[in-house]
Amino acid sequence: MSLADDLHEAEQAAIRKQPCKTGVWLESLDDRDRDAIRAFLAAGKPVSHLHGIAVRNGCGAAETRFRSHFRKRCACFDLEHVA
Ligand SMILES: [Zn+2]
Repeated sequence: MSLADDLHEAEQAAIRKQPCKTGVWLESLDDRDRDAIRAFLAAGKPVSHLHGIAVRNGCGAAETRFRSHFRKRCACFDLEHVA
């Protein structure tokens, strides 16, 4: 995905008031998977590593956007939507 596509996606998500791709993906998981992600990050493991695993499990978000989600700097948190 190019930078222009990334920016476009972020803008469109904000306009539509929808969660980002990472947020949508997290919502598609069950509680066990979400708990495992929280535990992974709480243990100080890198988001880049989590992104690689996420992509293999159906997450379509680019790594930059994926990181933004976990820094709470994406459309999900503008919505006060917590994944
Ligand atoms: Zn998000």
